[in-house]
Amino acid sequence: MTFAVHGLAVARGIAIGRAVLAASSRIDVAHYFVDAGRVMSEIARVRSARDAVIEELLRLQQTVALMSAKEAPQELSAILDVHLMLLQDKELEEGVKHWITDRLYNAEWALTTQLEVISRQFDEMEDPYLRERKADLEQVVERILRYMKGVASPVAPPPARPAPRQQDLQLGDTEDVPLVLVAHDLSPADMLQFKQSVFAGFVTDVGGKTSHTAIVARSMDIPAVVGARSASQLVRQDDWVIIDGDAGVMIVDPSAIILAEYGFKQRRGDLERERLARLRHTPAITLDGERVELLANIEMPEDAESAVKAGAAGVGLFRSEFLFMGRQGHLPDEEEQYHAYRRAVEGMQGLPVTIRTVDVGADKPLDDTRRDNAHLNPALGLRAIRWSLADPAMFRTQLRAILRAAVHGPVHMMIPMLAHGSEIRHTLALIDHARAELDNAGIAYGNPQIGAMIEIPAAALTLPLFLRYFDFLSIGTNDLIQYTLAIDRADESVAHLYDPLHPAVLRLVADTIMECRRQGKGVSICGEMAGDTSMTRLLLGLGLRTFSMHPAQILAVKQEVLRADAARLAPWAQRVVQAEDPAAAMAD
Ligand code: PEP
Ligand code: MG
Repeated sequence: MTFAVHGLAVARGIAIGRAVLAASSRIDVAHYFVDAGRVMSEIARVRSARDAVIEELLRLQQTVALMSAKEAPQELSAILDVHLMLLQDKELEEGVKHWITDRLYNAEWALTTQLEVISRQFDEMEDPYLRERKADLEQVVERILRYMKGVASPVAPPPARPAPRQQDLQLGDTEDVPLVLVAHDLSPADMLQFKQSVFAGFVTDVGGKTSHTAIVARSMDIPAVVGARSASQLVRQDDWVIIDGDAGVMIVDPSAIILAEYGFKQRRGDLERERLARLRHTPAITLDGERVELLANIEMPEDAESAVKAGAAGVGLFRSEFLFMGRQGHLPDEEEQYHAYRRAVEGMQGLPVTIRTVDVGADKPLDDTRRDNAHLNPALGLRAIRWSLADPAMFRTQLRAILRAAVHGPVHMMIPMLAHGSEIRHTLALIDHARAELDNAGIAYGNPQIGAMIEIPAAALTLPLFLRYFDFLSIGTNDLIQYTLAIDRADESVAHLYDPLHPAVLRLVADTIMECRRQGKGVSICGEMAGDTSMTRLLLGLGLRTFSMHPAQILAVKQEVLRADAARLAPWAQRVVQAEDPAAAMAD
């Protein structure tokens, strides 16, 4: 039966394929297809990890047997029995074998898929005792995954299998069908892994429009819906689904008519993309001759390629924190960072690259072992520059790596989340210190411009301080909106209040642009607002001339720029900023 699940539209386009349910396992797992020749070794990998867990539990059982009833309550022994039984369960073993052999899933993916299948059966059980055994199953699977993590995959993941186009698709085929990921939640680190994977789109139960998961989805340029509440409960493994990333809807088990309609929409989207691609080499100049700089936001050095392809004039935001994530506590050293930044700089072929110093914390935890969410208000906690200043040696390592990368092309350095004069001075002193360290070691380095992000209202309200110390400013509207309106950007339950057009937000944005222009300092927006075509005219009218966004958004924004007359937009933009209801004033 066809039904629809509504959420928030975060990354445009249509994806049609079979659902893959990501299990709720707290361990990050890779998703990729293996060669047919590797099937046996993948099965063996799961078996040997499972056997190791069985051995471990048997040893534990022996220890428990030697303990007194006080030291080891009876329940402990009963739990071990249940875990051992689950580990030896035929359905688990056969299911894993099926996903590897018939679908060519890698071992970890097969295991978590089968976990999801069996978990559903537990959910449907009437007996509450049996229903609760699901948690035991999750625990044993996590144990197996942990063992597998210790045993490296024998061969690096092969490249993603290209998704066939909808018109080549026959409902009912199982081979070469695009896969759509449905999960309760995905961390930004998960998303990075998915960047190299096979999914044609994804849906999550939680998340807001500018949560980092949504941001990475946009950077992958695949249709995505977040905040779909119970999507992962309503969909079953292998269900046919359509993701409408424009409307924020997932359609489950679509009828032939709906499928045909969405196939048509998908083709229309492809044509629109082809049409926009012709603008790639067209300079971004308004009708009245104002030159506009359209820059790219990137997460990894490899993204430089898509930035160049999209005709970006440079990188306005390299979110360096993605190099730091999912590493179980082993942060990248200076050499690794230097090579990563250098790859991005060289990848941009002489165009400028703005590297933002690490911004972890809140909804961007480093990894599962260091979840910041343990704190009540992680977004107000030790995040971004606060985190860096808390560990000056670690921060200087990054600063040295950025300074060194600046030898290979034009680099700007940008600092996130500053609010206090003392933080600014401390940061600049550490940059000087990093330079001195390189001097002492006789290592060459460049002289990047240093800029600050304006993403806390306190910063937007003390612009003279920032303009005194920095070469340029960039407005991080994602956080500026979050902190101005007290709306958690990752929380779907308050997503309707997350409003870029709130008069307070517009006032801070307008003043920052005006003040920078008055003092002849560079100013850009690198939050999601910059890539939203419905905002382009307003921002041009407010005087913004530098926009930084996901590469996939550049050509659509360029189209808006080419159609705009900035001088005529200016008085209209002022009226919008001063209006009680700016959204209504924009329509006038
Ligand atoms: C922002 O806050 O607008 C921004 C660009 O930074 P991030 O989304 O990475 O917090
Ligand atoms: Mg930010």
